[in-house]
Amino acid sequence: MAVVHLPDESLGNAALAAAVTATILFAFVVLYLVGFDQGAISRSGMFMHELMHDGRHLLGLPCH
Ligand SMILES: [Zn+2]
Repeated sequence: MAVVHLPDESLGNAALAAAVTATILFAFVVLYLVGFDQGAISRSGMFMHELMHDGRHLLGLPCH
């Protein structure tokens, strides 16, 4: 017996579009911070720098 989950009808199209847009923007910010920031925004000590640096290596982005 298959169970199918349909989208919640109470979530309107505008709310769904806003949630999708916010998720995409958040993903781009995270991608920028991990992939391209190089400390310009994430300058909050060596922990954040090293975390973003390790993220670049994890994702296979060119680093050094
Ligand atoms: Zn590196």
